[in-house]
Amino acid sequence: MDLAALLQLLIPSWSSVVLLGTFFAYLAAAGSILPGKVVPGAALPDGSRLYYRCNGLVSLLLLVALLGLGAWTDFLRPTIIAERGLELLSTTLIFSTLVTLVLYAAGCNSGSNSSSLKPHVSGNLIHDLWFGIQLNPQFIGIDLKFFFVRAGMMGWLLISLSVLARSVQDGDLSLSMTLYQLFCVLYILDYFVHEEYMTSTWDIIAERLGFMLVFGDLVWIPFTFSIQGWWLLRNSIELTTTAAVTNFFIFLIGYMVFRGANKQKHMFKRNPKALIWGHPPKVVGGKLLASGYWGIARHCNYLGDLLLALSFSLPCGLSSPVPYFYPIYLLILLIWRERRDEARCAEKYREIWAEYRRLVPWRIFPYIY
Ligand code: NDP
Repeated sequence: MDLAALLQLLIPSWSSVVLLGTFFAYLAAAGSILPGKVVPGAALPDGSRLYYRCNGLVSLLLLVALLGLGAWTDFLRPTIIAERGLELLSTTLIFSTLVTLVLYAAGCNSGSNSSSLKPHVSGNLIHDLWFGIQLNPQFIGIDLKFFFVRAGMMGWLLISLSVLARSVQDGDLSLSMTLYQLFCVLYILDYFVHEEYMTSTWDIIAERLGFMLVFGDLVWIPFTFSIQGWWLLRNSIELTTTAAVTNFFIFLIGYMVFRGANKQKHMFKRNPKALIWGHPPKVVGGKLLASGYWGIARHCNYLGDLLLALSFSLPCGLSSPVPYFYPIYLLILLIWRERRDEARCAEKYREIWAEYRRLVPWRIFPYIY
């Protein structure tokens, strides 16, 4: 494809604006109306807490059902996202930029002193736009940070399903595409089943809302994590049964480690005596879990996530690096993140952390790193 044609495909049309607007309007309405467990967020520096209604799973299932009905009654084409991928990408990018500017202007005008809304203006415009100046900005009662990450994860699924519809329509649904789609659906459904865990992640409790998170949630997650699906639309791969079975096992092991490690830490924080793999937990200094997955490596959850990311790309074979964008990006991100977290924990826990490091010397990959 030449540059002129590519640029032409990137120009947003009104229909992509309407598609995106309808998606956000649905999410805002569904998030406010549909039932869901209300989960308290972490305590903020001023002692207050936000409460999150975790109804992402029911919102997603209803959305998919409505889209299915729309496709069945010929009201909409299931392939529409796959057909308009590039212009949806640029529309979402423009939207993210506008949101960042509005967040900055609204933050600067906020007179609030609460931890959530107090503006932190550094004076460096680029820094403030990138990292944001408010911790938990709201719009019509909606917590925007929680809203955007939900939109990004659902957007990823919708893009993948539309790519799947395109592949079925073209009559070339392959084993590779089926595996990739299966992994995506399972991973995203699992994310929404465990949506409440999101409320205690670093992004939600500590990062301010600026371009980094808005763009990361709305553009980066849905459009780059789905590269494998787009790639499979244009490239045919013959997977052997052995390769497919091995791939499936990598997914399963990755899932077990990822979910198991995050769950063990979540349970330990709630009840430091909760059994780990049927045994009393090994605890360092009364605060750090040093058994189960947390006794294998200090960030075994990252290892699980990396295996999952690899399993999403393996269905594409090894002929091109393009479908490996996601695992490569994640590897860099998680190594960087682990280093930042290590520094934070060393500062917070001091000699307890040093003892934990002695007991569990591996950062992410046992016997390697
Ligand atoms: P973690 O869930 O690993 O949380 C790190 C925190 O956990 C530490 O700061 C410390 O916080 C606590 N902690 C660390 N070690 C122990 C221990 N042994 N016992 C008890 N508490 C401990 O970090 P993230 O929020 O970065 O990651 C959450 C998940 O999200 C991971 O599975 C990661 O793979 C995934 N992720 C995925 C990304 C993607 O793009 N796909 C991007 C980023 C993350 P405290 O002060 O509370 O003790």
